[in-house]
Amino acid sequence: MGKPILDVANLTKVFNIRGGGTVRAVEDVSFSIRRGETLALVGESGCGKTTVTKLLLGLEKPSSGQIAFDGLDIATASRSSIMKYRRQVQAVFQDPFASLNPRLKVRTIIAEPLMAHSIGDAKSRKARVLELLDVVGLPSSAAHLYPHEFSGGQRQRIAIARALALRPAFMILDEPTSALDVSVRAQILNLLADIQDEFGLTYLIVAHDLALVEHFSSAVAVMYLGSIAELGSTESVFANPQHPYTQALLASVPRPDPDHRPPTDVIRGEIGSAISPPTGCKFHPRCPKAVEICRTLAPVDPDSRPDRLVACHLVHPPAGTPANPAMAGAQARG
Ligand code: SF4
Repeated sequence: MGKPILDVANLTKVFNIRGGGTVRAVEDVSFSIRRGETLALVGESGCGKTTVTKLLLGLEKPSSGQIAFDGLDIATASRSSIMKYRRQVQAVFQDPFASLNPRLKVRTIIAEPLMAHSIGDAKSRKARVLELLDVVGLPSSAAHLYPHEFSGGQRQRIAIARALALRPAFMILDEPTSALDVSVRAQILNLLADIQDEFGLTYLIVAHDLALVEHFSSAVAVMYLGSIAELGSTESVFANPQHPYTQALLASVPRPDPDHRPPTDVIRGEIGSAISPPTGCKFHPRCPKAVEICRTLAPVDPDSRPDRLVACHLVHPPAGTPANPAMAGAQARG
């Protein structure tokens, strides 16, 4: 196991909203990712995944908490260290139609990060573009074409080539295949897996497709209304989900198993509002296992480790309550 390349501690982002009030988009989120690993952030839209990626990319500033990359605290780093961080951390976004400038030829798109960071001269940049096209499985002739001359899968290959231009150590993959035809998704995932091996990359992948997460990531963090509900190795979370939200998410994944029974405990309703989140456990209005204390007390994992966390009173009963509040029979739902 390698050392963590990214350590996120108690990260919180609060947005002020027009007319007063606040939105706690990300609240007290902590996780770390070891070099060469892939952590998947999963959860419904509005759960805070996108805000986490914006904070990591420096597109938003945290309200509190720390982001440390390779041991360096990003908030207090020098300008030159921040520049280095920006080279080391790159992103591939969901929609390759929107993320590539339609007026630029592919050779300019891929060379853009090199020019922005004043790396190399025209000749070396041209050579690097050809090298990157080869890495992502496109012919050198692609350099002279415009994005609209490619399919969705090919455009995502171009976006990956651009993300690799600065030789990053860490890539944020924001739903990298969800805008693509099913037939090309596996090809792009295989390409991402190959370049991870070849260049020793670490990935943070934002995804809602749990079958993809199970196959592609080594660790998973399940987010609900801005907080991490459960975090662990993909193997342990998928084999033994402990948070009712994770259990419900996984139970809804179709399985080719004839003995698989649909879940009896399904989650109800929509994700709550981050403007006025439910008190206590934010999941309690939807939780099939909620008990009285869930309405008033937010669950914390007292044993939380960087590699395993479950924020649920049933797993970690608060001091002074029965060992398993579910057994107390005090159903909170009316
Ligand atoms: Fe459900 Fe209570 Fe656990 Fe929250 S703390 S997930 S409401 S059982």
